Amino acid sequence: MSASLEATDALARPAAGPPHIPGYRLEKLVGKGGMGEVHRAVQLSLGRVVAVKILSGELAEDPTFVTRFDKEAAALATLSHPNVVSIVDKGKAENTYYLVMEYVDGPSLREVMRSPTLDTQGALRIIMEIARAIDYAHSRGVVHRDLKPENILFDEQAGGIAKVTDFGLATFFDDSKVASRFNVTETHVSMGTLSYMAPEQRVDAKNADHRADVYSLGVMLYELLVGEVPIGTFDPPSQRRPGTDKRLDAIVLRCLKPAAGDRYQRVADLMLDLEPFAPVSFSQVPRKISRVEQLKNQVRAVLRRTMRVAEIAVLVAAFAILGVSWVRSRYHPPPRPSPGTALTAPELRLETATTSPGRIADTSTVRRMVLGEGPDAIPLIAWGRVPGLEGRTVRFPSTADDLGVGRLNLDLVDRDGISAQLMADVTATAPPSSFWGGLREQLLGVTREPQVALVLLGSPGRYVAVIVSGTGEPVAFEWALGERRGTMLGPPSPPGGAAHVKLQVDRAGQLQAFVGTDQDQRPVGEPLYLGTDWRNSLGTPPTPALGCIDGECTFRQVGYEIGREPPDLPEPLVLTDPSPTKSKTVAKGTVKRKTPADKKPVSLRTPAPTTRHAKK
Ligand code: ADP
Repeated sequence: MSASLEATDALARPAAGPPHIPGYRLEKLVGKGGMGEVHRAVQLSLGRVVAVKILSGELAEDPTFVTRFDKEAAALATLSHPNVVSIVDKGKAENTYYLVMEYVDGPSLREVMRSPTLDTQGALRIIMEIARAIDYAHSRGVVHRDLKPENILFDEQAGGIAKVTDFGLATFFDDSKVASRFNVTETHVSMGTLSYMAPEQRVDAKNADHRADVYSLGVMLYELLVGEVPIGTFDPPSQRRPGTDKRLDAIVLRCLKPAAGDRYQRVADLMLDLEPFAPVSFSQVPRKISRVEQLKNQVRAVLRRTMRVAEIAVLVAAFAILGVSWVRSRYHPPPRPSPGTALTAPELRLETATTSPGRIADTSTVRRMVLGEGPDAIPLIAWGRVPGLEGRTVRFPSTADDLGVGRLNLDLVDRDGISAQLMADVTATAPPSSFWGGLREQLLGVTREPQVALVLLGSPGRYVAVIVSGTGEPVAFEWALGERRGTMLGPPSPPGGAAHVKLQVDRAGQLQAFVGTDQDQRPVGEPLYLGTDWRNSLGTPPTPALGCIDGECTFRQVGYEIGREPPDLPEPLVLTDPSPTKSKTVAKGTVKRKTPADKKPVSLRTPAPTTRHAKK
């Protein structure tokens, strides 16, 4: 937050001090914008830190500004998105209008732009996060119209993600009286903002629509890549900054087209083009490091070195006790790969192939499959660790020493379709800790994180996965689709990794992961847009798979659904035929055959008498 502090520390506080807002204790002035001041404050009822924005006294006398302030609150209240600052409260105390927001503790994009460590990939990641927020806002009917680096703050507590603030100008531009007055009287908003404004917005704000935001995104992208805003006739980024990928030029220039009709018409389209260049979506942003932090880092480095020496001493002792051979055979500290990569690593050995009872129901437009009980035989192939099957539950058991990676492919033959959906109730629990295991973990710092995953596999090395952690880490949505690779983090995993998860790609090629059921269902990050030829991204029609890493994992209610192109002909008559012999062609639910044999636990460790082989 230093630049806003730098910029605002100099601001003189009103002689009377900050106003009294009931329920809040104003602690520090952290910023000043066109509408008034922003203070860091404590919300007394919950004891949490918040940001309180106060409409300046002079503007509070003008009903147009009061209306705009109200509209800003209304716009924020419409939006609930990880990349948009959230609103807590609003009100009026005596003559003071105030708006309470979540407090964002990090620097603004303006400050981050000055960081020498910000590279192209980091810049693109930031733009993608802002684009997600704006795409979402547009989908809720809100146009920002004042996107600029000062209005993007980074939430360090949330891992450095970008948050868009100051949604007030949408109403500002709807109202020419406010617009003219604001520009005339508030010089500090004029020039800086103008550089980011679309041409049509500069001429007549009323003509500006959501494509004005696309223009502003383009200016910020240009500035992030080049170090300056584009003015007049400007050179494409790759000419200004040799080494910049030339393919980015076309994307930036399309955002900056003077005519709104020539720009990207939707932020989602811009994201689709940028996505291959933006590797991982959520991670720390580079930021300016203060002297104090530099000193702290040096102290930490010394401490780390000291700790390492101490650790080595402990290790030597441990080696002596346990015997060098034991350590050699047991301890190979692996660089921990991402869960998806671990689950699809070529080293993962084919263990066994078998079948499980299940139910497959086909209609002309959908093929549904449920694992567990039912009259159909579902081919399964186990890789790495081998799970057992008890009724409808697939379980990767674990003992303290039986760790590692396991994957179970549902090896369906006829699996091509225009959409796909894989879902299950999952759990991931830590293995029982043995004495030696515990000692090894303590001494060698090997941490185990049980993880359970639903995976859609494509050609070798290509996959998408949703991963739930047994230790409360955020649910992750991970993909590796050739050039496109990345991870998005969602809400924290529920205790024991017990969750209903879903991984789906729809016919438009929108790929998304969800966690939770019904109303509690929450997306994991944002959707990934692959386009209608999404199967090309995977390389083959997807194979659904269940994955488990380092712990005991269970999967219940495993379901897989493939959408099919509806045939030109009317539905075949067979759909209305409830004959139990046509189990594969009747609609879902019309066939239910339970035999005691169906319920018998099936162990994959003793392969069933099948000669099926994997076609990998
Ligand atoms: P205005 O609407 O008057 O332009 P802003 O919303 O831009 O005011 O806020 C002014 C400054 O206050 C910002 O540049 C930023 O430094 C700080 N600020 C705004 N919102 C927050 C917040 N939620 N958390 C922390 N600081 C904030």
